[in-house]
Amino acid sequence: MTGPKHSCGVVGMSAAHDVVNHIHKALNIIQHRGQESAGIAAYRNGVITTVKNSGLVNVALTKESMAGLSGESGIGHVRYSQLVTKGVVNAQPISLETTHGSIAIAHNGDITNFEELKKKYLAQGWSFSTDSDSEILALLFSKNMSQTDDPIRALRMMMSEVDGAYSLTVMVNERVFGVRDPYGFRPLCLGELEEGYILVSESAALDSMKGTFIRDIMPGEIIEIMPDRFKSYPLSTNHPKAHCMFEWVYFARPDSIIDGKEVYDVRKRVGMILARESPANADIVMPVPDSGRAHALGFSIGSGLQYEEGFMKNRFVERTFILPDQKQRERAVSMKMNPIRSTVKDRRVVIVDDSIVRGTTLKKLVKILRDAGAKEVHVRVGCPPVIAPCYYGVDMRTRDQFIANSYSVSEIRDIIGADSLAYISIDGLVEAIDFPENDLCLACVNSKYPTNIPGEKHRFQSTLRTDFAQ
Ligand code: AMP
Repeated sequence: MTGPKHSCGVVGMSAAHDVVNHIHKALNIIQHRGQESAGIAAYRNGVITTVKNSGLVNVALTKESMAGLSGESGIGHVRYSQLVTKGVVNAQPISLETTHGSIAIAHNGDITNFEELKKKYLAQGWSFSTDSDSEILALLFSKNMSQTDDPIRALRMMMSEVDGAYSLTVMVNERVFGVRDPYGFRPLCLGELEEGYILVSESAALDSMKGTFIRDIMPGEIIEIMPDRFKSYPLSTNHPKAHCMFEWVYFARPDSIIDGKEVYDVRKRVGMILARESPANADIVMPVPDSGRAHALGFSIGSGLQYEEGFMKNRFVERTFILPDQKQRERAVSMKMNPIRSTVKDRRVVIVDDSIVRGTTLKKLVKILRDAGAKEVHVRVGCPPVIAPCYYGVDMRTRDQFIANSYSVSEIRDIIGADSLAYISIDGLVEAIDFPENDLCLACVNSKYPTNIPGEKHRFQSTLRTDFAQ
């Protein structure tokens, strides 16, 4: 599959007053979901105005760039993607002027039948101005609006054509909608602020805005928010669920609650279960900051080993994960992490990280700990071995990228230079998230895809196609 990946963040708001500053604030709070570009679309006086630029929220959306942007309805987006798709052309929200009004869409997720749909509609004379799969959502929605003029029906028709992961905020003139795909891959929640209602990828945004969390959008649900109320259009049939486990393991903020489970709590439980499944004979336990922190704390509680901070992280170094070659990634890891020598010298250390993908980070960190005088280094990992690509929005694409595809656990232990290495089991992870296994997407660790992906096995067949077939 081509097309950029979207582990992004979305916001939507409807209020009696201008919503632009609120959306800006919410985007800042979900900045971790995407650092490549940011955008806001707002409706006033019959027009949707969109401002979007490359960079962090405060760089992309400045007072100057947002001059003239205002409205009582608006949506926003932060975008994460691989380096090669950098550029403002794929920034969101995507907005369209149509005969039935202005439309804007912000998308978090990945449309898995994007290439098929693109081919089909190119043959019908459509043109695409970006290489983003989100554009197909905007174009389909717009086509459907011209047929029904009813946004709910038009969204349902769009949902019956697309497969994959999508949490959306959508605007049709002043009306604001939230949509979550029937599997519920990516999060989306509803909150109330003093001024109106807000939809946002993660609940942490509500706390910082003095808002009240109302609930998660249900898988398959469409919700319309208005300044003083909201209206729900739930899915009328039972549909299998597939919440992405990686949201809890790595992607979301620890202070967010996703589908009723607090991320921090899940990570701590992961650490406690790891300590039960794979104890280590050691003196201290320390995290890979920041993503491994709650996991390490859980390991400390579960094992009784003292928790210590053994690395100081430089937060201003670029994201190492997306750098294009191995040398650059390794160099960036050493720039990013410096050991706290008194913590590690002459000690048997357990180091806990959320996940191993290529093995770059831990290989480098184990070496740094040994150079700083650690006597033994035991690695514990809060996610089972990643062996299969994600087609639903997490930036893990090709099988040959995953160290666990080519090597056994003991070989990986030797490659990263650790004294011992253990991953949490799939059962342990499911226990920590505390959902039935069938309600989770575990495809990256068990290769069982919830939906049809050409060339991959799949677990469920969506019932939505027949429910909403046009
Ligand atoms: P690696 O160094 O390739 O083994 O990658 C694992 C490290 O990258 C872990 O410390 C994770 O916190 C982080 N990580 C895992 N998956 C992703 C992702 N999709 N995007 C960015 N960082 C990630």
